[in-house]
Parts: sequence; C-alpha cells; structure tokens
Amino acid sequence: MYQPRAPYGAPLKRAAALVVGCVLAATGCGGGGAASKSAPTHSAAAPPASPSATPIPTLPPKADGTTPVFAHGKRGAKLIALTFDADMTADEGGRAARGERFDNPELIATLRQLKVPATIFMTGRWADQYPDEAKSIGADPLFEVANHSYSHHAFATPCYGLPKVSTGAVRDDVERAFDAFRRAGVRHTVPYFRFPGGCYDDAVLKALGPVQVTAVQWDVISGDAFAGRPGPVAEEVLAKARPGSVVVMHCTHSAAPATEAAVRTVVPRLRARGYRLVRVSDLIGGR
Ligand SMILES: [Zn+2]
Repeated sequence: MYQPRAPYGAPLKRAAALVVGCVLAATGCGGGGAASKSAPTHSAAAPPASPSATPIPTLPPKADGTTPVFAHGKRGAKLIALTFDADMTADEGGRAARGERFDNPELIATLRQLKVPATIFMTGRWADQYPDEAKSIGADPLFEVANHSYSHHAFATPCYGLPKVSTGAVRDDVERAFDAFRRAGVRHTVPYFRFPGGCYDDAVLKALGPVQVTAVQWDVISGDAFAGRPGPVAEEVLAKARPGSVVVMHCTHSAAPATEAAVRTVVPRLRARGYRLVRVSDLIGGR
C-alpha cells in the first residue's frame, strides 16, 4: 500500500525530450519482457486519493513480491484501452513558463465529447504544472489517473538517452507523483504505473514491489509522439489494435500535436468494428 510521503524539494536533472519518441520506436521499448498473458487478478485496496469504494482490479504481485506487469487484456473480448501519457519531465518548467504546452485540453475535451473512457498516465511534474486540469481529469468518471513517475527519467537503462533514476530512488519518484496528484486534488487515481519509456528490468520491478502498483505496458504503439499528421497515427492504431489491446498515445501537445485529430478518426472506426473502448482497469478486471 502506498504510504503518504513528505514533500520532496530537490530538483531533478534534465531529461531529453526524445523520451517521448521512445514510445514511437520499435516494439520492445521496455527493457524487460512484458508479461503479456492475462494473469488472474485480485483487488488491491484503493489508492489513498480515490474516494471510490469499489475495489480497483490489479494483478497480484509475483511470488517474490516484485511488481507484476500488464501489457494487454484477454484476446477474446472486443475491448480496447486507449491510454494517454501526460509527459512532462522534471526540468521542463522553464519551457512551460515560456509558453510551451505540455498539456492538451483539446484532447481531453474530445474524449469527453466522444464519451471515450481512458486511462491517463500522468507524471507528477505534469500535475504540478497543470493542477486544475489534473483535478478535472481525476474528477471525471470517464477517466482514471495512473502514475507515470514524477520525473519521467529512466528507471532502467539504456532508455533512449534519459538520465537514470538510481535504483534506490525509484520508489521515491513514484510516490512523489502520488503526492503531486494529492496536492492537485486528483480524486480517481489507480495503482498502476507506467515506466518512462517503458524501460524496466528485474531490479526495478523488485525495488517497486513495496509500492504495490501494477506496471502497465502496451501492445500497440500509436506513433503519435512528434507526429505532424494525424492520418498515419490513426492508420497505425487501426492496423495494430486487436481485442484486449492497450494503445499508448500522449496527452501533451508539445510532443504529440496530432493526437486529438487522430482520436477523432480512430474512435468511430474502432466502434464501427464492434470494439468497446474501456479503461485499463476494465481490461485488468476482465470486464
Ligand atoms: Zn512518457
């Protein structure tokens, strides 16, 4: 169970913007092999920021207590989870102050307009920068807010040139993001964690064990990061998505400006194929 922690003060060092690009890269962005089979679920206690009395489905920890990894749901049901990484690295505050937008309110508005349930993997730094948006997303029953680290630095290397969080600090970085969600008033948080860049190894899975999160990877890379046109992004998703898929996209206009338009194409076409769009919790719970 995640325990509240004291606020952190030390600024973290720079991270390259190309981190977002890593999810564009070939499948296998993560350092370790994803646990791709649908493991049985159990219900963990709700994370502290959630007011919901409904248990949130999670994967059980491995026998040695290390963090379980979820990559996709059961292949039998026509359910697909669109996930959006709200990336902002610990050193990008200056760029935000100069007007660069790491949020994407148009995307959130479109998801609401199209009534698309979605899981937002938010960095703590993003929540600190956009607390009102974070709170609004977390208050909307369409969405669930998951943890994408505080710093968006690498949890295992190599990871696309990202500076590495030391193994001794990974737990703090994850908990620091939960702290940021709490400060912003984010209500609907879920105990899921996505590694920056999808990069992980056995050591970091073990280090995160006490935090009791389910690590969430993906099986469809949308290619929205740094994409200038929505068409190829939409076509990639439509070509690769299958029952149980977890699709990774981004909720940061700076690095993924075509995502909102791509979603407008993808959603009706998936629905026309008989798919129901769900949150990651629905996939893990087998609903
Ligand atoms: Zn990311």
